[in-house]
Amino acid sequence: MSDTMQQYKCPNCAAELRFHPNRQGFVCEYCESFFTPEECKAANEQMNAHAAQIAQAQEEFSQQSQLYSCPSCGAELITDQNTAATECYYCHNPVVLKGRLSGEYRPARVIPFKVSREEAHNIFHEWCKKRWFLPRSFLSDSQLLHMQGVYVPFWVADCQIHGQMRAVCKQTRSWRSGNYEYTETKEFDVFRDASLQFKGIPADGASKIEDQLMESIEPFDYQAAVPFEMAYLSGFLSDKYDVNKSQVFPRIRNRAVNGSDQLMRASMTGYSSIRVTQSDMQVLGTRWEYMLLPVWFMTYQYAGRQYSFAINGQSGKQAGTPPLNTAKLLLVCAAVALGCTILGTIGGLILS
Ligand SMILES: [Zn+2]
Ligand SMILES: [Zn+2]
Repeated sequence: MSDTMQQYKCPNCAAELRFHPNRQGFVCEYCESFFTPEECKAANEQMNAHAAQIAQAQEEFSQQSQLYSCPSCGAELITDQNTAATECYYCHNPVVLKGRLSGEYRPARVIPFKVSREEAHNIFHEWCKKRWFLPRSFLSDSQLLHMQGVYVPFWVADCQIHGQMRAVCKQTRSWRSGNYEYTETKEFDVFRDASLQFKGIPADGASKIEDQLMESIEPFDYQAAVPFEMAYLSGFLSDKYDVNKSQVFPRIRNRAVNGSDQLMRASMTGYSSIRVTQSDMQVLGTRWEYMLLPVWFMTYQYAGRQYSFAINGQSGKQAGTPPLNTAKLLLVCAAVALGCTILGTIGGLILS
C-alpha cells in the first residue's frame, strides 16, 4: 500500500482497516468486520460528511467541560464550569481538578433527570423501611449527602445489516381416500437476501459501575432523550467513559446478528419445517451515539466492603445490595435458635 492511499476507518468501530490480499477487501482487526472496497468507500464518505459538524460541537464541549480525578480509586468525573466536584462518588475521597476534557467525550444526547434529589431521598427511605438489619450509620443524614446525581455514559448503536439466508423448507399435506392415507411432501430451496436496520441497541460505557446494578434499574425510555447541552450537567456529575466503541461492539454485534437471524427465519412462513443451511449476517455500518443516562447513585463502606445503591433518575426504579448489620442479625439468630431449642425440648418431651 502506498503512503498516499487514503486510510479507511471501520464503519462499525472506527478502527483503521487493513487491506486483505486474499479476500480482496478490507478487514478490521478489532471487530473482525469485512468490507468490499465499494462498501468501504461508501461508508467512509458518509462518515467524513458528518465529521466537520461534529468537530465544532466537540471543540465547544472541550472548552466548557471540567475533568476531575480521584487519586484514591482512579475514577474520572466530568462536570460543567459552574459545578464544583468535591468528593468521589465511588469512594468518598476528595477529587482533584485535572483540566479540560478532549472533545471526543462529548455526548450526543442525554436523558434529563426527572427524579429530584428530595424524591430520591424518599425512595431511599422507603427502600430502607423494608429492610431490617441495616446499620444505623447507613440511614444517617451524613450518608445521604453521598447520594449523587450521576449521568452514566452509554453507547447506543444503530446497525445496518446485510443478511443472506438459505434454507430447506418442507410443506406436507395429508388426506385419506378409501382405505389409504396419502402424504405429499414438497421441498423448497428458500433463499432470503435482506437489508435490515437495528435502532437503539444499548451498552454501558462505565466499567466502575456494576453492570448488574445498571441492568436492575432498566429500562430507560430513549424517546425522552434530547440533544446534549452543557446546561444539563449543571449540578450533576458524569462519568468519563472507559469502555470504548471497539470494546463494546462485539456485544452490540451479537444482538444485531441474532436479531437479524430471527427476523429472517420468521419471514419463512407457510412451511411445516424449516432447516437453515446457511446464514450470513454482515454488519455493514454502525452509527454510534454516546448518550448520558440519569442515575441517583450512592455507595456505602461497611465492614470492609463497598455497597452500591442506585435509582433510575427517569423512572424512580431502585436497586442495590443492603449492608447487613451482623451484630443485629446474630442477636436475632441467637433468639431464633434459642426458641428452636426450647421447642425441640418440648417436642422431645411430648414424644418420649
Ligand atoms: Zn471494526
Ligand atoms: Zn474514588
